[in-house]
Amino acid sequence: MANPFTLGIASGEPLPDGVVLWTRLAVDPLGTDPRRPGGMAPRAVEVSWQLAEDERFTRGLRQGSIRALPVWAHSVHVRVTGLRAGADYYYRFKASGTQSAVGRTRTADDPLSTRPVRFAVANCQRYEHGFYTAYRHLAEERPDVVLHVGDYIYESRQSALVVRPLGPLPGEATRLHEYRQRYARYKTDPDLQAAHAAAPWVVTWDDHEVLDNYRGRGDGSAAFLRRRAAAYQAYYENQPIRVRPEEGNLQMYRRRTYGAVADFLVLDVRQHRATSMLGAAQEQWLISRLLTSPVRWRLLVQPLFFARRFVPGPAPNLRPDAWDGQAGQRSRILAVHAPGLAVFSGDVHNAWAGELKADFLDPDSATVGVEFVGSSITSRPPVTDGPAVLAANPHLKFFDDNRGYLSCSAGPEELRVAFRAVEFVDKKGAAVRTVAEFITKGNGLTSENTPSK
Ligand code: FE
Ligand code: CA
Repeated sequence: MANPFTLGIASGEPLPDGVVLWTRLAVDPLGTDPRRPGGMAPRAVEVSWQLAEDERFTRGLRQGSIRALPVWAHSVHVRVTGLRAGADYYYRFKASGTQSAVGRTRTADDPLSTRPVRFAVANCQRYEHGFYTAYRHLAEERPDVVLHVGDYIYESRQSALVVRPLGPLPGEATRLHEYRQRYARYKTDPDLQAAHAAAPWVVTWDDHEVLDNYRGRGDGSAAFLRRRAAAYQAYYENQPIRVRPEEGNLQMYRRRTYGAVADFLVLDVRQHRATSMLGAAQEQWLISRLLTSPVRWRLLVQPLFFARRFVPGPAPNLRPDAWDGQAGQRSRILAVHAPGLAVFSGDVHNAWAGELKADFLDPDSATVGVEFVGSSITSRPPVTDGPAVLAANPHLKFFDDNRGYLSCSAGPEELRVAFRAVEFVDKKGAAVRTVAEFITKGNGLTSENTPSK
């Protein structure tokens, strides 16, 4: 059989004692036969896995095997347990006589640990818009964990200004095999594979994993619910997550805790959206965790711009799809006054940093947290008059229009967030630099270093 590991390997969902290992077999990743996703014949394939404390697989070796089934597009999700907290591990797979690359993963820290956690945040990676050079640099940093805040794929096809063509894929994914092909196309990218192989990921989705700006059950039609279920299934098949979709739903909101330092509160702003962004059950879960979390930093991991962002100009607006369209629920979250609140978001394809206010219309009101908005790995930004938006929103402090990602660390003393940027994505080989770094010690931004200004 040809190499079945063309989509790479990954790990995710780190706990103090375990991780999930992932791969999906595809001998022909761009194959378009709906009955043979990834060119795989419709029968089960035995996949063996190994995990050890060293790259040569000599210390603390664990191994097992699992069947990759056609019903899950030959993906496997291995839940390894009984591991040491805050430790690096290496893993690999073997199928049909072929060995995969070796990945590095890492468990979450022990609940009592005060060691700073190093994490990266990425989002918005439209394939047609360029090369994933930012991921190459992110991989080299080998963070403890990578957070992805959505738009991992785009369901549509870009027709103008295409840097990298999608190839033989349909114009828009609406059915299961088409979503599977989308993921296969994206995952053939070597830089994306390197980022997955460098660290465990904790992912959440935004709209484009299904459909632009969709909300909850959409129009409620059987056709939309079928489409959403197909997209959710393909998402599961292509991500190192713990939970499987059931009856068209996939449990996404959850927390991942690192020691006594960081509570990553991962939100789902799409699936439960109806009368509010999160729905009642998720809001209750979030608020109760914000009230009771015993750790230093409460980090909201979610796609959408959280602070008020009024865009002045000929058509002044607040964006209804983001949290400005859900001001009531946003106020209830901020009213908790949770100490160490930091929101990480994406979606807008430009980078921003700002402070969260008890009343965004009153600059003198209390500062109750900070927000860092990653730009995009590749997705092209809209035309934005950054300085005008900053002037109209005094709580927003920083704007940058480069592609990139966030490189962060959260420790007992401080939260550091560096905006990492690549100069171009239309060719390979861009260098990376830090355009700004923010340090937070209390509720607001304590200081800013802007090395390049
Ligand atoms: Fe996007
Ligand atoms: Ca989006």
